[in-house]
Amino acid sequence: MQFQKLGNIRAKHPRLRKLIDDLAAYIEAQLANGADKFVPALVARHLGVSEAQALGLLAAFEDEGLVRSAYEVVCKGTSTVLATVHSKSQLAELLPIHCEFCDSDHGADDLSVELVFEVVAAPAQRNAFA
Ligand SMILES: [Zn+2]
Repeated sequence: MQFQKLGNIRAKHPRLRKLIDDLAAYIEAQLANGADKFVPALVARHLGVSEAQALGLLAAFEDEGLVRSAYEVVCKGTSTVLATVHSKSQLAELLPIHCEFCDSDHGADDLSVELVFEVVAAPAQRNAFA
């Protein structure tokens, strides 16, 4: 079933076939390492493409439900992830957010927001539904 989704992406973007396979392999490797999310900058570096290209590929994977974009709200002082939301509108509702590590409430100035992609389904898990 997941393999079918990967096939859908390949069919929509035939010229990106190699990159699609490389991204699928990257996601598989992340999962094997116990990581269920990753940042686009590392995907770009791994695939040897620009970050814009990596985001385009990730969007294609997101369209098929293989990954989901999310925003991590990070305390600038401690680099701790305080919250994860799935839309930018949710971000505003969160603030100010209490940070246990600084024992204070942080506003936008104390925080950075990082775009990450969560793995929803393993792209090459061909036997998952067999
Ligand atoms: Zn903090």
